[in-house]
Amino acid sequence: ETETVVELIAKREVLPLYKPRQKYSHKGNFGHVLIIGGSYGKIGATNLASRAALSSGAGLVSAYVPKCGYHSLQTAIPEIMVVTDENETNISSINFEIEPTVIGIGIGMGTSDSTAKTFESFLKSNKTPLVIDADALNLLSKKKTLLQLLPDLTILTPHPKELERLIGKWSDDFEKLKKAKDFSKKYNVIVVIKGSNTITVYHDKLYVNTTGNPGMATGGTGDVLTGVISGMLAQGYEPLTATIFGVYLHGKSADIALEDYGYQSLIASHIIENMGDAYMDLF
Ligand code: AMP
Ligand code: MG
Repeated sequence: ETETVVELIAKREVLPLYKPRQKYSHKGNFGHVLIIGGSYGKIGATNLASRAALSSGAGLVSAYVPKCGYHSLQTAIPEIMVVTDENETNISSINFEIEPTVIGIGIGMGTSDSTAKTFESFLKSNKTPLVIDADALNLLSKKKTLLQLLPDLTILTPHPKELERLIGKWSDDFEKLKKAKDFSKKYNVIVVIKGSNTITVYHDKLYVNTTGNPGMATGGTGDVLTGVISGMLAQGYEPLTATIFGVYLHGKSADIALEDYGYQSLIASHIIENMGDAYMDLF
């Protein structure tokens, strides 16, 4: 049994992680994020994650959604490309020709039988680094043998309910962290335990984030985090660095938005809009 290492993550810790942009860089240097998700009435989740990936610095962003999502995404976000499933209302045959650097999957996706089936065959053939959230986490919880198919250092971002489905119930925080560490080791994945002090777990290492506020307790903020972490990965940050840095920036952006909107009126989009200030606050 190795010793648990706990590190608090504040500006001092993330500043040295930052990679400055070179004068001659072009969009090809910053990766291509593909966001896979959405279903009828839940296309907004993919809108948030796609915009968040752009605002965190990804070079290119595409979204893969059921057909019903096409027009709203193309209209709302001219900066992204939209690829559609053959099905109108939910994803039922994940099939695309692009070669993304990173895939963020699960948000607003639903867990219908056809979506579960295509998710499983996707995992069987996929070699691209993954960020897994929401309904993709729920599908993994329903069929735990699929966890073996995840690429090393896949990033999972459960909120407390999703975490419970994934690792089982716990009686106290100590047991929760023990189970999360065991899970991380067993599958060699990074687990982001979302909450008021989000904790990133990798094997016996725990990184406790210090940014963020209760204004973030509102729909869509988790979808934004999926986009931000995917965007960091696409830019070439190592998976653990992308996670810790992304969680920090997401919270910092919400802290900056809080000054304008307050706890009640802060919404997920504000976290996207303030990402630039979150970066600039580092210096
Ligand atoms: P989700 O439940 O998937 O939408 O994710 C919610 C996001 O908001 C996560 O990034 C949480 O860490 C964050 N969040 C929710 N409530 C709070 C809170 N009270 N304090 C700080 N962050 C929060
Ligand atoms: Mg969520």
